[in-house]
Amino acid sequence: MMKKKIAVNYRKGKKNDVKCSRCISSIFKEIKGIGFGSLGFQWRCKELGLDAGMNYRIQPGNTCDRAEPKEAGDADQ
Ligand code: SF4
Repeated sequence: MMKKKIAVNYRKGKKNDVKCSRCISSIFKEIKGIGFGSLGFQWRCKELGLDAGMNYRIQPGNTCDRAEPKEAGDADQ
């Protein structure tokens, strides 16, 4: 696991955790591969980095010590 993920205690989310999908830092974005072909939409985190590399991929059901909930009523991104 990448050092940044370890530093923020990135982990599987439990029932009452603010999960990545509901965190203000998460983005569901299109990832461009080598040659700018699309690798489809994946989750990334502004805290951990938005690079295309698989190390930067986050899972919507995971969480970490930096998790902060989006305002109520905000749509998932
Ligand atoms: S800050 Fe933590 S909980 Fe929020 S999106 Fe990033 S890894 Fe997930």
